[in-house]
Amino acid sequence: MPKSPAPESLPTVKVSPRGATRLKAGHVWVYRSDIVSADGVPSGSPVRVTDHRGKPLGTALYSSASQIAIRMIALDPVADFPALLRQRIADAIAYREPLVRDTEAYRVVFSEADFLPGLIVDRYADILSLQILTQAMDVDPVRQAIVAELTTRLHPESIVERVDPRIRELEALPPRASGLLQGEKSASTFTMNKVRFSYEALEGQKTGAFLDQRENYAAAAQYAKGDALDVFCYQGGFALHLAPHCSHITGVDSSRPALEVADQNAALNPQVLNGKEVEWIEANAFDLLKDYASSDRHYDTIVLDPPAFAKSKRDLDAALRGYKELNLRALKMLRPGGILVTCSCSYHVSQSNFLEMLADAALDARRTLRLLEVRGQAKDHPVLLNLRETAYLKCAIASVSY
Ligand code: SAH
Repeated sequence: MPKSPAPESLPTVKVSPRGATRLKAGHVWVYRSDIVSADGVPSGSPVRVTDHRGKPLGTALYSSASQIAIRMIALDPVADFPALLRQRIADAIAYREPLVRDTEAYRVVFSEADFLPGLIVDRYADILSLQILTQAMDVDPVRQAIVAELTTRLHPESIVERVDPRIRELEALPPRASGLLQGEKSASTFTMNKVRFSYEALEGQKTGAFLDQRENYAAAAQYAKGDALDVFCYQGGFALHLAPHCSHITGVDSSRPALEVADQNAALNPQVLNGKEVEWIEANAFDLLKDYASSDRHYDTIVLDPPAFAKSKRDLDAALRGYKELNLRALKMLRPGGILVTCSCSYHVSQSNFLEMLADAALDARRTLRLLEVRGQAKDHPVLLNLRETAYLKCAIASVSY
């Protein structure tokens, strides 16, 4: 493998005083507007970062296209980036070893949260699914180092790459198709909290499943009871975990392919379901909740796990209105003593925004909520305290007053 240049020969990027202040506060991104000079820096290259006077601030990965021009990887000089990357992958695996329990599927590498900006790796039993999100991770020797280290450490049957064409476009990378990088297997099953799921590596959303909800599935199952409704159920993650504790459960989603997999997943779990049937309804959740609320339907447990409504900061108000509408309708349908499990995966919606929205919805619904748990993403999706962008998932579990 080609050696990286010695640190002193890395190209230099100078950042503005505002950029330097952000970095000193522990942030790891500098936006293009805070770059003072990056003359002749090759795209996707590791770079030396200095302040405007030339004082060294560390080593970063440079993107010639993204608004996020540099992503820090170390406070020190880095001589050999592929070697550092291999060490970081080993560290990410070691971090999870004592923390990840009862699952064959989990996130192995989570980009900035594992000091590997632009790399996401998920494990689904014997298949690894990776996403490359930046120029620096797309360079051939870097790709080779990623695949080599993952193979040595985890011995997967195959490695698949999932490509988001929009991200490649934003990073000015040539188009590329999703596909197998190694091995031939692209379908498998995995068990999570004793529930089995089927997995098609080249289909579905994200890299296949919503692994960030793994611990929330188990938490919600502890409170679930009676008639339950899992709204935005996708492939049945919450519904299948809740089913053993409920008398009847219905999953709702607007995606037919997702519901088809949900139904296959139900069939994989005779022990979990113990003869119980899960009903899957293809519908727009907003319309369905409106109909059900006005026809006086009642439930003992409702899960709300919508897609991210706020894709940018500008959408925050509209997103909060959307969340409030859903939560309000759900609260009106919950019986006294009922359980609401409500989530938001928009990182522009902070935990306090989310809880305020929920409090408002409760006031309007004339219900009192007791918060049982306020949760986030599973621990294999780490949150860096000094990098708030790494925290995005909120999951509140609350009991409706009698
Ligand atoms: N709870 C799921 C993840 C939900 S992701 C799990 O744990 O696996 C969000 C889901 O919302 C997707 O499956 C998407 O198909 C669905 N969706 C998006 N808009 C919708 C709408 N208006 N009505 C119903 N479902 C919708």
